[in-house]
Amino acid sequence: MKERYPRLEINLAHLKHNVAKVVEKCGSYGIQVAGVIKGATGLVEVAKQFDQGGASFIASSRLEQIEDAKNAGIKKPMMLIRVPMLSEVSDVVRLADVSLNSELEVVKALNAEALKQGKIHKVIVMADMGDLREGYWDKDEMADVCEYIEKELSNIQLMGIGTNVGCYGSISPTVETLDDLVEIAEHIEERLGRKLEYISGGATSSLMRVWDGNIPERINLLRIGEGILLARDLDVFYGYDMSELYQDVFRLKAEVIEVKDKPSHPVGTIAVDAFGHTPTYVDRGMRRRALLAMGKVDYGDPSELLPLEKGIEVLGASSDHTIIDVENAEKDWKVGDIMEFDICYATIVYLTNCRNVNIAYV
Ligand SMILES: *Cc1c(COP(=O)(O)O)cnc(C)c1O
Repeated sequence: MKERYPRLEINLAHLKHNVAKVVEKCGSYGIQVAGVIKGATGLVEVAKQFDQGGASFIASSRLEQIEDAKNAGIKKPMMLIRVPMLSEVSDVVRLADVSLNSELEVVKALNAEALKQGKIHKVIVMADMGDLREGYWDKDEMADVCEYIEKELSNIQLMGIGTNVGCYGSISPTVETLDDLVEIAEHIEERLGRKLEYISGGATSSLMRVWDGNIPERINLLRIGEGILLARDLDVFYGYDMSELYQDVFRLKAEVIEVKDKPSHPVGTIAVDAFGHTPTYVDRGMRRRALLAMGKVDYGDPSELLPLEKGIEVLGASSDHTIIDVENAEKDWKVGDIMEFDICYATIVYLTNCRNVNIAYV
Protein backbone atom coordinates (compact mmCIF):
# COMPACT_ATOMS: atom_id res chain seq x y z
CA MET A 1 0.00 0.00 0.00
CA LYS A 2 1.20 3.50 -0.81
CA GLU A 3 2.01 5.74 2.11
CA ARG A 4 -0.19 8.78 2.55
CA TYR A 5 1.26 12.18 3.42
CA PRO A 6 1.56 14.25 5.54
CA ARG A 7 2.56 11.39 7.76
CA LEU A 8 3.31 11.52 11.46
CA GLU A 9 5.46 8.59 12.54
CA ILE A 10 5.39 7.64 16.20
CA ASN A 11 8.09 5.34 17.53
CA LEU A 12 6.29 3.42 20.26
CA ALA A 13 9.38 1.57 21.51
CA HIS A 14 11.23 4.85 22.01
CA LEU A 15 8.18 6.32 23.71
CA LYS A 16 7.93 3.39 26.12
CA HIS A 17 11.64 3.72 26.85
CA ASN A 18 11.14 7.39 27.71
CA VAL A 19 8.24 6.61 30.02
CA ALA A 20 10.22 3.89 31.80
CA LYS A 21 13.30 6.10 32.13
CA VAL A 22 11.39 9.04 33.61
CA VAL A 23 9.48 6.69 35.92
CA GLU A 24 12.79 5.16 37.04
CA LYS A 25 14.50 8.50 37.64
CA CYS A 26 11.50 9.90 39.52
CA GLY A 27 11.12 6.62 41.39
CA SER A 28 14.62 6.92 42.82
CA TYR A 29 13.35 10.01 44.68
CA GLY A 30 10.09 8.36 45.74
CA ILE A 31 8.15 10.24 43.09
CA GLN A 32 5.32 8.72 41.07
CA VAL A 33 4.56 9.81 37.53
CA ALA A 34 1.17 10.73 36.11
CA GLY A 35 1.61 10.21 32.36
CA VAL A 36 0.05 13.15 30.54
CA ILE A 37 -1.31 12.05 27.17
CA LYS A 38 -2.90 15.30 25.98
CA GLY A 39 0.18 16.30 23.95
CA ALA A 40 -0.62 13.48 21.53
CA THR A 41 -4.38 14.04 21.73
CA GLY A 42 -4.68 10.94 23.87
CA LEU A 43 -3.98 8.50 21.04
CA VAL A 44 -4.58 5.11 22.64
CA GLU A 45 -1.32 3.62 21.33
CA VAL A 46 0.47 6.49 23.07
CA ALA A 47 -1.56 6.04 26.25
CA LYS A 48 -0.68 2.33 26.25
CA GLN A 49 3.04 3.13 26.31
CA PHE A 50 2.53 5.38 29.33
CA ASP A 51 0.70 2.51 30.99
CA GLN A 52 3.23 -0.19 30.08
CA GLY A 53 6.18 2.07 30.83
CA GLY A 54 5.08 2.30 34.43
CA ALA A 55 3.17 5.57 34.90
CA SER A 56 1.05 5.45 38.07
CA PHE A 57 -1.80 7.47 36.55
CA ILE A 58 -2.96 8.21 33.02
CA ALA A 59 -3.66 11.91 32.88
CA SER A 60 -5.34 14.28 30.45
CA SER A 61 -7.04 17.64 30.35
CA ARG A 62 -9.81 16.11 28.22
CA LEU A 63 -12.39 13.55 29.26
CA GLU A 64 -12.73 12.20 25.72
CA GLN A 65 -9.11 11.09 25.87
CA ILE A 66 -9.59 9.48 29.27
CA GLU A 67 -12.63 7.65 27.94
CA ASP A 68 -10.64 6.36 24.95
CA ALA A 69 -7.88 5.14 27.26
CA LYS A 70 -10.38 3.26 29.42
CA ASN A 71 -12.07 1.77 26.37
CA ALA A 72 -8.65 0.61 25.18
CA GLY A 73 -8.45 -1.49 28.32
CA ILE A 74 -6.03 0.59 30.35
CA LYS A 75 -6.64 -0.16 34.01
CA LYS A 76 -4.51 2.51 35.64
CA PRO A 77 -6.28 5.21 37.62
CA MET A 78 -7.34 8.10 35.40
CA MET A 79 -6.54 11.69 36.32
CA LEU A 80 -8.29 14.77 34.92
CA ILE A 81 -5.69 17.54 35.06
CA ARG A 82 -7.80 20.48 33.94
CA VAL A 83 -10.12 21.68 36.69
CA PRO A 84 -13.55 20.32 35.77
CA MET A 85 -16.31 22.33 34.15
CA LEU A 86 -19.48 22.31 36.23
CA SER A 87 -21.21 21.08 33.09
CA GLU A 88 -19.07 17.92 32.96
CA VAL A 89 -19.10 16.72 36.58
CA SER A 90 -21.16 13.60 35.88
CA ASP A 91 -18.67 12.48 33.23
CA VAL A 92 -15.77 13.42 35.49
CA VAL A 93 -17.05 11.07 38.18
CA ARG A 94 -17.91 8.39 35.61
CA LEU A 95 -14.52 8.47 33.86
CA ALA A 96 -11.85 9.90 36.14
CA ASP A 97 -10.66 8.51 39.45
CA VAL A 98 -8.92 11.74 40.39
CA SER A 99 -9.29 15.37 39.34
CA LEU A 100 -7.35 18.54 40.02
CA ASN A 101 -9.58 21.20 41.57
CA SER A 102 -9.60 24.85 42.54
CA GLU A 103 -13.27 25.67 43.19
CA LEU A 104 -15.24 24.37 46.16
CA GLU A 105 -18.48 24.75 44.21
CA VAL A 106 -17.19 22.24 41.69
CA VAL A 107 -15.96 19.83 44.36
CA LYS A 108 -19.39 19.97 46.00
CA ALA A 109 -20.98 19.16 42.65
CA LEU A 110 -18.53 16.26 42.24
CA ASN A 111 -19.53 15.04 45.70
CA ALA A 112 -23.24 15.11 44.86
CA GLU A 113 -22.56 13.28 41.62
CA ALA A 114 -20.27 10.70 43.28
CA LEU A 115 -23.00 10.03 45.83
CA LYS A 116 -25.44 9.46 42.97
CA GLN A 117 -23.04 7.11 41.15
CA GLY A 118 -22.07 5.32 44.36
CA LYS A 119 -18.40 6.22 44.00
CA ILE A 120 -15.62 7.90 45.90
CA HIS A 121 -13.98 10.57 43.73
CA LYS A 122 -10.49 11.76 44.66
CA VAL A 123 -9.29 15.32 44.38
CA ILE A 124 -5.99 17.15 44.39
CA VAL A 125 -6.51 20.77 45.45
CA MET A 126 -4.36 23.16 43.49
CA ALA A 127 -2.24 25.99 44.88
CA ASP A 128 -1.21 28.87 42.64
CA MET A 129 2.45 29.46 43.40
CA GLY A 130 2.78 32.39 41.00
CA ASP A 131 2.12 30.97 37.55
CA LEU A 132 -1.34 32.59 37.65
CA ARG A 133 -3.29 29.86 35.94
CA GLU A 134 -5.39 27.52 38.12
CA GLY A 135 -5.22 27.19 41.89
CA TYR A 136 -5.78 29.04 45.15
CA TRP A 137 -3.87 32.26 45.55
CA ASP A 138 -5.17 32.70 49.10
CA LYS A 139 -3.59 29.77 50.99
CA ASP A 140 -5.79 30.27 54.08
CA GLU A 141 -8.85 29.88 51.90
CA MET A 142 -7.21 26.79 50.39
CA ALA A 143 -6.69 25.25 53.82
CA ASP A 144 -10.31 26.01 54.74
CA VAL A 145 -11.48 24.31 51.55
CA CYS A 146 -9.31 21.25 52.23
CA GLU A 147 -10.71 20.96 55.73
CA TYR A 148 -14.26 21.35 54.42
CA ILE A 149 -13.71 18.61 51.84
CA GLU A 150 -12.24 16.34 54.51
CA LYS A 151 -15.03 16.84 57.04
CA GLU A 152 -18.16 17.58 55.05
CA LEU A 153 -18.03 15.80 51.73
CA SER A 154 -18.87 12.12 52.12
CA ASN A 155 -17.91 10.96 48.63
CA ILE A 156 -14.82 13.03 47.99
CA GLN A 157 -11.41 11.93 49.17
CA LEU A 158 -8.81 14.66 49.52
CA MET A 159 -5.86 12.85 47.96
CA GLY A 160 -3.41 15.72 48.20
CA ILE A 161 -2.44 19.11 46.95
CA GLY A 162 -0.55 20.21 43.88
CA THR A 163 0.61 23.09 41.81
CA ASN A 164 1.28 23.96 38.22
CA VAL A 165 4.13 26.22 37.14
CA GLY A 166 5.68 27.22 33.85
CA CYS A 167 2.48 27.25 31.83
CA TYR A 168 1.06 30.76 31.77
CA GLY A 169 3.35 32.80 33.99
CA SER A 170 6.57 31.04 32.91
CA ILE A 171 7.49 30.50 36.56
CA SER A 172 10.32 28.07 37.21
CA PRO A 173 9.89 25.29 39.78
CA THR A 174 12.73 26.36 42.02
CA VAL A 175 13.57 24.51 45.21
CA GLU A 176 12.10 27.49 47.06
CA THR A 177 8.76 27.36 45.25
CA LEU A 178 8.45 23.64 45.87
CA ASP A 179 9.51 24.06 49.51
CA ASP A 180 6.71 26.61 49.84
CA LEU A 181 4.28 24.07 48.41
CA VAL A 182 5.40 21.45 50.94
CA GLU A 183 4.97 24.00 53.71
CA ILE A 184 1.40 24.68 52.58
CA ALA A 185 0.76 20.93 52.54
CA GLU A 186 2.13 20.51 56.06
CA HIS A 187 -0.03 23.35 57.34
CA ILE A 188 -3.07 21.62 55.83
CA GLU A 189 -1.97 18.30 57.33
CA GLU A 190 -1.88 19.91 60.77
CA ARG A 191 -5.44 21.09 60.32
CA LEU A 192 -6.57 17.67 59.13
CA GLY A 193 -4.59 15.72 61.69
CA ARG A 194 -3.26 13.37 59.01
CA LYS A 195 -0.75 13.14 56.21
CA LEU A 196 -1.73 13.88 52.63
CA GLU A 197 -1.11 11.01 50.24
CA TYR A 198 0.29 13.18 47.45
CA ILE A 199 2.06 16.48 46.99
CA SER A 200 2.20 17.08 43.25
CA GLY A 201 4.99 19.46 42.35
CA GLY A 202 4.25 20.24 38.73
CA ALA A 203 4.94 19.05 35.22
CA THR A 204 7.93 18.54 32.94
CA SER A 205 9.70 21.68 34.15
CA SER A 206 9.88 20.13 37.63
CA LEU A 207 12.00 17.32 36.18
CA MET A 208 14.85 19.86 36.42
CA ARG A 209 14.74 19.30 40.19
CA VAL A 210 14.87 15.53 39.67
CA TRP A 211 17.78 15.80 37.24
CA ASP A 212 19.56 18.13 39.71
CA GLY A 213 18.76 15.84 42.62
CA ASN A 214 17.36 18.69 44.71
CA ILE A 215 13.62 18.07 44.65
CA PRO A 216 12.13 18.57 48.13
CA GLU A 217 11.64 15.23 49.80
CA ARG A 218 7.90 15.33 50.23
CA ILE A 219 7.10 16.02 46.58
CA ASN A 220 5.94 12.59 45.46
CA LEU A 221 3.93 13.09 42.27
CA LEU A 222 4.76 14.80 38.98
CA ARG A 223 2.53 15.03 35.94
CA ILE A 224 4.72 14.57 32.89
CA GLY A 225 3.85 15.05 29.22
CA GLU A 226 6.49 16.83 27.13
CA GLY A 227 9.44 15.42 29.08
CA ILE A 228 8.39 11.95 27.97
CA LEU A 229 6.87 12.59 24.54
CA LEU A 230 9.68 14.80 23.23
CA ALA A 231 12.19 15.38 26.03
CA ARG A 232 13.32 18.48 24.21
CA ASP A 233 12.25 21.53 26.27
CA LEU A 234 14.63 21.00 29.20
CA ASP A 235 17.47 20.41 26.76
CA VAL A 236 16.75 23.35 24.44
CA PHE A 237 15.62 25.96 26.98
CA TYR A 238 17.68 25.04 30.04
CA GLY A 239 20.59 22.99 28.72
CA TYR A 240 19.76 19.80 30.64
CA ASP A 241 21.29 16.56 29.48
CA MET A 242 18.36 14.51 28.19
CA SER A 243 20.56 12.00 26.38
CA GLU A 244 19.06 9.09 28.30
CA LEU A 245 15.79 9.81 26.52
CA TYR A 246 14.87 9.57 22.84
CA GLN A 247 14.01 12.88 21.22
CA ASP A 248 12.78 11.25 18.02
CA VAL A 249 9.55 9.63 19.16
CA PHE A 250 7.66 11.83 16.68
CA ARG A 251 8.73 12.52 13.12
CA LEU A 252 6.82 14.34 10.42
CA LYS A 253 7.08 13.53 6.72
CA ALA A 254 5.60 15.62 3.92
CA GLU A 255 5.58 15.39 0.13
CA VAL A 256 7.08 17.92 -2.28
CA ILE A 257 4.55 19.10 -4.89
CA GLU A 258 6.55 21.82 -6.65
CA VAL A 259 10.24 22.77 -7.00
CA LYS A 260 11.12 26.02 -8.77
CA ASP A 261 13.55 28.93 -8.78
CA LYS A 262 11.65 32.02 -7.67
CA PRO A 263 12.37 35.49 -6.32
CA SER A 264 12.62 35.59 -2.52
CA HIS A 265 10.69 38.85 -2.34
CA PRO A 266 7.02 38.80 -3.40
CA VAL A 267 6.34 40.58 -6.68
CA GLY A 268 3.57 43.19 -6.87
CA THR A 269 1.83 45.31 -4.21
CA ILE A 270 2.13 43.75 -0.74
CA ALA A 271 -1.17 43.65 1.16
CA VAL A 272 -2.03 40.92 3.70
CA ASP A 273 -1.33 37.16 3.73
CA ALA A 274 -3.94 34.39 4.06
CA PHE A 275 -4.23 35.10 7.79
CA GLY A 276 -4.60 38.88 7.57
CA HIS A 277 -1.00 39.62 8.56
CA THR A 278 1.56 41.66 6.69
CA PRO A 279 4.88 39.84 7.10
CA THR A 280 8.19 41.27 5.97
CA TYR A 281 10.20 39.48 3.30
CA VAL A 282 13.96 39.61 2.85
CA ASP A 283 15.11 39.98 -0.74
CA ARG A 284 17.84 37.39 -1.31
CA GLY A 285 17.43 37.25 -5.06
CA MET A 286 16.33 34.15 -6.97
CA ARG A 287 16.27 31.03 -4.79
CA ARG A 288 15.33 27.39 -5.29
CA ARG A 289 12.14 26.62 -3.39
CA ALA A 290 10.18 23.48 -2.67
CA LEU A 291 6.48 23.49 -1.92
CA LEU A 292 5.11 20.89 0.51
CA ALA A 293 1.58 19.53 0.58
CA MET A 294 0.84 20.45 4.18
CA GLY A 295 0.18 23.73 5.94
CA LYS A 296 -0.87 25.54 9.08
CA VAL A 297 -4.13 23.58 9.20
CA ASP A 298 -2.09 20.44 9.78
CA TYR A 299 0.54 21.61 12.27
CA GLY A 300 -0.08 25.19 13.41
CA ASP A 301 3.15 27.18 13.36
CA PRO A 302 5.71 26.57 10.57
CA SER A 303 8.55 27.93 12.72
CA GLU A 304 8.18 24.79 14.87
CA LEU A 305 9.14 22.50 11.98
CA LEU A 306 12.78 21.43 12.30
CA PRO A 307 14.08 20.01 9.00
CA LEU A 308 16.29 16.96 9.43
CA GLU A 309 18.46 17.69 6.42
CA LYS A 310 20.98 20.53 6.75
CA GLY A 311 20.76 23.55 4.44
CA ILE A 312 16.98 23.59 4.37
CA GLU A 313 14.98 26.52 5.67
CA VAL A 314 11.27 26.77 6.39
CA LEU A 315 10.18 30.10 4.90
CA GLY A 316 6.53 30.11 5.81
CA ALA A 317 3.18 28.56 5.16
CA SER A 318 -0.43 29.09 4.29
CA SER A 319 -3.29 26.81 5.31
CA ASP A 320 -2.35 23.92 3.05
CA HIS A 321 1.13 24.71 1.74
CA THR A 322 4.56 25.01 3.31
CA ILE A 323 7.32 26.87 1.49
CA ILE A 324 10.87 25.63 1.89
CA ASP A 325 14.13 27.23 0.75
CA VAL A 326 16.28 24.44 -0.68
CA GLU A 327 18.86 26.65 -2.43
CA ASN A 328 21.63 25.38 -0.14
CA ALA A 329 20.32 21.86 0.33
CA GLU A 330 22.74 18.97 -0.11
CA LYS A 331 20.22 17.03 -2.12
CA ASP A 332 18.61 17.95 -5.42
CA TRP A 333 14.94 18.10 -4.38
CA LYS A 334 12.34 16.83 -6.83
CA VAL A 335 8.57 16.61 -7.01
CA GLY A 336 7.40 13.53 -5.14
CA ASP A 337 10.32 13.57 -2.69
CA ILE A 338 9.56 13.25 1.01
CA MET A 339 10.93 15.81 3.44
CA GLU A 340 11.35 14.93 7.13
CA PHE A 341 11.07 17.09 10.22
CA ASP A 342 11.54 16.94 13.93
CA ILE A 343 8.71 18.79 15.58
CA CYS A 344 7.78 20.66 18.76
CA TYR A 345 5.14 19.95 21.38
CA ALA A 346 2.43 22.24 20.00
CA THR A 347 3.01 20.83 16.51
CA ILE A 348 2.27 17.33 17.78
CA VAL A 349 -0.96 18.49 19.38
CA TYR A 350 -2.13 19.93 16.06
CA LEU A 351 -0.93 17.02 13.93
CA THR A 352 -2.60 14.40 16.11
CA ASN A 353 -5.83 16.43 16.00
CA CYS A 354 -5.91 16.72 12.22
CA ARG A 355 -7.74 14.19 10.08
CA ASN A 356 -5.59 15.05 7.06
CA VAL A 357 -2.56 13.65 8.81
CA ASN A 358 -1.77 9.98 8.47
CA ILE A 359 -0.52 8.63 11.80
CA ALA A 360 1.81 5.65 11.53
CA TYR A 361 3.34 3.63 14.37
CA VAL A 362 6.86 2.44 13.70
C1 LIG B 1 -0.43 19.84 30.54
C2 LIG B 1 -0.31 19.69 31.99
C3 LIG B 1 0.73 18.91 32.54
C4 LIG B 1 1.81 18.30 31.69
O1 LIG B 1 2.65 19.29 31.22
P1 LIG B 1 4.05 18.94 30.50
O2 LIG B 1 4.78 20.22 30.55
O3 LIG B 1 3.72 18.50 29.14
O4 LIG B 1 4.71 17.88 31.29
C5 LIG B 1 0.74 18.73 33.89
N1 LIG B 1 -0.18 19.30 34.69
C6 LIG B 1 -1.18 20.07 34.22
C7 LIG B 1 -2.17 20.66 35.15
C8 LIG B 1 -1.27 20.29 32.85
O5 LIG B 1 -2.26 21.05 32.37
